[in-house]
Amino acid sequence: MPTKWISRKDLKKLPDQWLKQYDVYAPIQNGHELAFQLVKESAQIVWDVPSNPRYPAKSLFLPQSEVLMSYDGILHSVEKVERPKVLFGLHPCDARAIRLLDHALVDEQNPDEYWKSKRQSTIIVSTACISPDESCFCTAVGGSPFNTADSDALIVEVEDEFCVYVLTEKGGVLFSKLPDAEDAQREKVEKLTKKVEAGMPKAFPKKKLHDNLLASFETDFWKEVSQSCLGCGVCTFLCPSCFCFDIADETVRKERVRNWDSCMFRTYSLEASGHNPRPTKMERTRQRVMHKFVYWVDLVGEIGCTGCGRCVKYCPVNIDIRAIAQDALHREFEGMKK
Ligand code: SF4
Ligand code: SF4
Repeated sequence: MPTKWISRKDLKKLPDQWLKQYDVYAPIQNGHELAFQLVKESAQIVWDVPSNPRYPAKSLFLPQSEVLMSYDGILHSVEKVERPKVLFGLHPCDARAIRLLDHALVDEQNPDEYWKSKRQSTIIVSTACISPDESCFCTAVGGSPFNTADSDALIVEVEDEFCVYVLTEKGGVLFSKLPDAEDAQREKVEKLTKKVEAGMPKAFPKKKLHDNLLASFETDFWKEVSQSCLGCGVCTFLCPSCFCFDIADETVRKERVRNWDSCMFRTYSLEASGHNPRPTKMERTRQRVMHKFVYWVDLVGEIGCTGCGRCVKYCPVNIDIRAIAQDALHREFEGMKK
């Protein structure tokens, strides 16, 4: 892969050049929080993002509330032609989540055109996570703070300069004028990568975790781990790989809208008959965890949690999905293969 090199001063000027052709989204200060938002000038961008912004970048492709169509006697579909965009400054775990969501939303036979048009018009430029937060565990679930797999380019900060891995043709367009990195510079990046990865958690044994969780399905394990859950839905709303939504007709606005929904809400699975297949927080917590560590693995062969740590950090009662996985790995459930 072509590897380029750029100083901090010059990197900070690049988004202003991109703005001539693209809408640029990057972490900017929004009240007390950082959020991926449309940038007017490079100076707005927060360059040293210590940990993941509270809201993941998925909202750029799957907004929290999105108008699908409007009607005033006849239906008007919403224009799906998107301006070309650069999404800059997300960490590799969030880039991985966007690629995971492609599995759910870009079925070749029946793609979600709203998601697909935004995806196709966007160049993803990630920044390596050189000081992961205490809640981060990407390496436990198949990722890395330096993962190059899911972005169009990855930028790594090394001693106040930046290495740019150009990973796709789309990414190359943004960095074509930069000089190639020299051998000594590449070595510095490799050294840093090894050092940061060595301090991160070890990979979960994916198959054992999958099988143990399946064996736990009908046990009281889920009562135990869900006991303090408030059903607030924060863990799913902030999760970069959760994608459930509800569609509502707003009759006053005369619009059909889709809004994020959460499997942690009681009404999420409530059927019109009054029956609810997930009537308590036990079934709902089980669903959230099984979806990440069992159902994604069955469907696409990889864990559906990217280890971004948001659900760990922001759960108001400190329910920790890492601890649930570790606990399930070390228990013996009836019917488990020895
Ligand atoms: S954030 Fe915590 S309390 Fe809220 S629904 Fe998720 S697990 Fe339950
Ligand atoms: S389950 Fe939690 S740690 Fe995993 S991707 Fe979602 S928010 Fe991040």
